[in-house]
Amino acid sequence: MEISRDHPRYRSLVVRERMSELVRQGVVAPTGLIAHGRGEAFDYMLGERTTDAAALAELAVAAWLLEARRPVITINGNAAGLCAEGLLSLARAVPAKVEVNLFHRSPERVEKVVSYLESLGGRDILGRVQSSRLEGIASDRAMCCTEGIYEADVVLIPLEDGDRAGALVKAGKTVLAIDLNPLSRTAVESHVTVVDELTRAVPNIEKAVRELRDDPEGRKKLIQEFDNARNLRLSREAMCRTLGLDPDGGRA
Ligand code: ATP
Ligand code: MG
Repeated sequence: MEISRDHPRYRSLVVRERMSELVRQGVVAPTGLIAHGRGEAFDYMLGERTTDAAALAELAVAAWLLEARRPVITINGNAAGLCAEGLLSLARAVPAKVEVNLFHRSPERVEKVVSYLESLGGRDILGRVQSSRLEGIASDRAMCCTEGIYEADVVLIPLEDGDRAGALVKAGKTVLAIDLNPLSRTAVESHVTVVDELTRAVPNIEKAVRELRDDPEGRKKLIQEFDNARNLRLSREAMCRTLGLDPDGGRA
């Protein structure tokens, strides 16, 4: 499809075209398009910008990734389709391991997503062999790599489902999420939630990683002072303001 560059929603239309092409290739699941649409709606309410609250959460994510002993970044079909290069670049910068972990898991789709990441320069991508289980999830979504998620102390989960986010928290991991929906279970249960669009959040986090690399005191302060419930409230309030609503008139 030809999309005119001066269309006011040019970027959104280009991303939609690419996501639907990646569905055709089997990298993105068909229902991933629905999740993408939900994200777009929340981004509209955010004013399609990085709020102050999101910028602070991005710093806290960078601080946690640098403080981690065994950090892992998980990538699913949507995250790969939207931001593969950015996530691979972030993983190299930390450095963190990368594990492909799919909601709709089949060996064929795992292979497609892993090969897609490899075609963009990803090395040592985990996920083809998943022989450990996270407690607390019944389905095969509990499966993960022993040397990846299973042994990780800190896990960054862009666009994760609430069940698995909750299971990672129960497994004792520090869970860092990127999710435009400040009301989702993932957003509420994670230790740090970045309420920002993935392709804005990831380069911001990488920049913060570079800034905080030689600043251990700054990292500790960010980690100690970050309050996820408060930060989610600030994100909801930012949405209220875009909607022209009084933030104090809504839910507490
Ligand atoms: P949960 O399972 O956590 O309660 P959910 O069922 O609403 O939440 P899922 O469909 O499991 O959510 O996961 C998709 C999530 O990803 C949605 O909350 C959506 O807002 C978010 N999302 C989609 N696209 C993006 C994007 N580009 N950037 C950031 N977040 C996004
Ligand atoms: Mg869900």
